[in-house]
Amino acid sequence: MRIALYIKEELQETDIATYIISKISQHNFDIDQENPDFVLFVGGDGTFLRAVNEYINQVDDIEFVGINEGSLGFYSDFVIDELDTLLDDLEMGEFNIRHCRLLETDIAGEKILAVNEIRVENPFHTCIAKVYINDVYLETFRGNGLSVCTSNGSTAYNKSLGGSVIAMETNTMQLTEIAPINNRVYHSLNSSLVIDANSHITLEGEFKEAVVGYDHLTTRGDTNRIDIKLSDHRVSFIYKKDRTFIDKVRESLIK
Ligand code: NAD
Repeated sequence: MRIALYIKEELQETDIATYIISKISQHNFDIDQENPDFVLFVGGDGTFLRAVNEYINQVDDIEFVGINEGSLGFYSDFVIDELDTLLDDLEMGEFNIRHCRLLETDIAGEKILAVNEIRVENPFHTCIAKVYINDVYLETFRGNGLSVCTSNGSTAYNKSLGGSVIAMETNTMQLTEIAPINNRVYHSLNSSLVIDANSHITLEGEFKEAVVGYDHLTTRGDTNRIDIKLSDHRVSFIYKKDRTFIDKVRESLIK
């Protein structure tokens, strides 16, 4: 079996990296950075997002597993002391795996896939967007922008925007407003909207001056129409059965 290592930059030249490589060599794995079966990422959720992006062209064929050396670990359940047992379990095929559909859109012919969210933002001028859900007109939004997240992305930027936290194992999309203008003249829903996984969201407007953010990446909003849906591509990550979503919420977001 082939395993690739994706280590957070600050940890790459440390004893942790050396230790992990030596442990892998004691197990029945080949280190293969190009065509891995598993990607062992070391860091927090930001490292996971970057690891997925690094292997986005093979994302359906890889299982990601995280050693948490970052501050938050919604995607990385294991700690370094568990590495030996984890490698044993990977060898034996004894692990729990969660599959999460990615978000997908197309900006000027470029296909974009995201784990957490796709957002359209213009913090300097009012972003005006007609919003359609499954081709049905919802509203004309005015404000800084809109974010569409997956269930697993709901605890990230979406939460800071006042969106709902959605259990990871649920398959949804959530549309959340960024600094909406609501006054006597302009109205929007002014709440996040959770819709089912087979829906699609369309935003129509002048997005030339806006930025499209997706996970840790950005591109120019070089279009007048943005369609966002859950993709057939999915990311799979190995999780610990006894660390529930509620444990993660409590540990990462409350205390
Ligand atoms: P980053 O990689 O440093 O991550 C920013 C923070 O978001 C980190 O604390 C990370 O642990 C956390 N995070 C990422 N995914 C998460 C998830 N699913 N649940 C809970 N926390 C999560 O920063 P970046 O490179 O700018 O962007 C990566 C992610 O950061 C984006 O996908 C976005 O969701 C999030 N972000 C959050 C805010 C905010 O909360 N105001 C602003 C920008 C970006």
